[in-house]
Amino acid sequence: METYDALLASITPDAGETRTIFDPATGTVVGAAPVHTVQDLEQAIAAAEAAQPAWAALGHDARSTALLRAADAVERSAEELARLLSREQGKPLNGPNARFEVGACAAWLRAAAGTPLDPETVVDDGETRAELHYRPIGVVGAIGPWNWPMMITIWQLAPALRMGNAVVVKPSEYTPLSVLALAKVINEELPDGLLSVVSGGRDVGEALAGHPAIGKVMFTGSTATGKAIIKSSADTVKRLTLELGGNDAGIVLPDADPKAIAEGLFWGAFINTGQTCAALKRLYVHTDIYDAVCEELTAVAAAMPMGVGLDETNVLGPLQNKQQYDVVARLVEAARESGARILLGGNPDADRPGHFYPATLVADIDNTNPLVAEEQFGPALPIVRYGTVDEAVTMANALDVGLGASVWSADAVAARNVAARLEAGTVWINKHGAVDPRIPFGGAKQSGYGLEFGVEGLKALGVPQVING
Ligand code: NAD
Repeated sequence: METYDALLASITPDAGETRTIFDPATGTVVGAAPVHTVQDLEQAIAAAEAAQPAWAALGHDARSTALLRAADAVERSAEELARLLSREQGKPLNGPNARFEVGACAAWLRAAAGTPLDPETVVDDGETRAELHYRPIGVVGAIGPWNWPMMITIWQLAPALRMGNAVVVKPSEYTPLSVLALAKVINEELPDGLLSVVSGGRDVGEALAGHPAIGKVMFTGSTATGKAIIKSSADTVKRLTLELGGNDAGIVLPDADPKAIAEGLFWGAFINTGQTCAALKRLYVHTDIYDAVCEELTAVAAAMPMGVGLDETNVLGPLQNKQQYDVVARLVEAARESGARILLGGNPDADRPGHFYPATLVADIDNTNPLVAEEQFGPALPIVRYGTVDEAVTMANALDVGLGASVWSADAVAARNVAARLEAGTVWINKHGAVDPRIPFGGAKQSGYGLEFGVEGLKALGVPQVING
């Protein structure tokens, strides 16, 4: 018996093709997800089109009230959702993981409900009065990844619903149960047809991105898929918000205190066992404190328990899927073969069930090494030595992605000066990856375009309309 049994049963299809979902920590069966087709997508879009006008007509206040009720519903089912998420995604209940993710779902729903968005008077000079309004788009498509399946779905659907749109969600094939369960809970508070989940493969994603009735696609996933979506959406000139891959750099300035920053560096890199878009994925440390930072970070990382998600003691879990495990293993092996020094980890236990790769720190590594230059998206952090800040900034900016970055220093002014030189959508100081529903978030370069969160995030889910009289 599991707390989520009834919830899981409510999303398990009685008939039709299903996909068996396995727990990445144990290999045991979690449940069966529907395999929806393009025809199911058509039905979901038709239902969304039918439900959207009445929802839009409710106005901001009534829609916000419904979103607040949805946040309460998520909180009422929080433990069931967190446990199901933990089994399907692999992330532990504790630490910045499953319970944290479900808590974030409620927080982002409330933030989308509570952010004011009033028409803006652009010109009012006695002759011309021009106002900027935001009208609903219609039906929004939301395509998401497997690393933070619930939270990212909420990031996409909460502002969309608040702005008067209907939403059709296409979750990752790896984590459909989490998204289906979340939508089931939220739908207790929403009109029929307004929000649906089409749990299909990439063919369904492609059809959604090209569908003439979809006015906007919110996409979070890899840069390669983002490019495919740009192409599929071109013929219908869809609006897009693209949150794509990253390979975030962190720069530790020579005045930083290695002991004081070690835990922040660790969680910046290893949150969700490294499977986080805006995690710290390349660390640049000044040569004067290089050894001390390596030592402190190793001590913190070595003490973090990794294991099955439902075990309350763990804070690190498995990789979600074998494909990602293989990427991490390949990159660490390439680093080892190149002569880099493995400070910790790097030797997965082949007999252990599940996709566990140990927390791995790699020192004395060249900036062009694949473990540095490619997005590893897992629990392996390369630590690159630098001599001058100019050199560190050049290395940090050398890639074609720029989601986040961080600067670590005791001197706030020095840190801000370096931050301003980094080509990234967000630069954190003395932390990495902290997202906040009040603060806009989005990528630079090939990490995507468009902003989520805050009032900017709401505006991105509306069609700007100027009324000029
Ligand atoms: P992915 O691109 O493989 O898949 C994401 C989604 O796109 C899935 O639902 C998939 O079915 C769908 N899809 C695949 N091909 C498609 C197509 N041609 N048309 C439409 N949809 C299609 O990404 P993933 O492996 O699930 O996620 C990991 C990646 O996501 C990493 O690169 C990570 O950095 C990135 N990510 C970015 C953010 C961010 O906010 N920038 C957040 C989380 C993850």
